[in-house]
Amino acid sequence: MSYDENNIFAKILRGDIPSFKVYEDDYTLAFMDIMPQADGHTLVIPKFKAETLLDIPADELIHTMTTVQKVMSALKSTLGVEGVVLMQLNGEAAGQTVPHLHFHLIPEHLRKLKGHGAEQGDMEKIKALAQKISAAL
Ligand code: 5GP
Repeated sequence: MSYDENNIFAKILRGDIPSFKVYEDDYTLAFMDIMPQADGHTLVIPKFKAETLLDIPADELIHTMTTVQKVMSALKSTLGVEGVVLMQLNGEAAGQTVPHLHFHLIPEHLRKLKGHGAEQGDMEKIKALAQKISAAL
């Protein structure tokens, strides 16, 4: 597997570019998507360098899914939503645009989602949501 060290999420992990973080531990990072498909759209990534789900060892994946579960719980409790879409794309052929494994958590009904990576969100609103969500984590 060839991993692109200069993909956007690798830069976020290195701190080369900023992000609205909501949670971080030794294995994972969770931060807001800046082109949200709904308010509260959050991304969870492993620190392990994997491009797709097929490139990560099971033990690293368990850490990642544990963070997915924590963030989903925080989204439900802070935003008062009943449902959260969990989405994860593998490969350009599936529409993956950033080649570092990530899980989308989108607190909205599937039929109401905005376009994927379509439009930059309101940064002040995203920042405020990040503060709210991170406070629960
Ligand atoms: P993918 O298409 O790879 O499944 O999803 C990539 C996601 O990353 C998209 O939802 C897109 O909005 C988001 N994204 C792209 N560039 C950036 C960025 O610079 N910062 C953040 N936080 N999200 C980004």
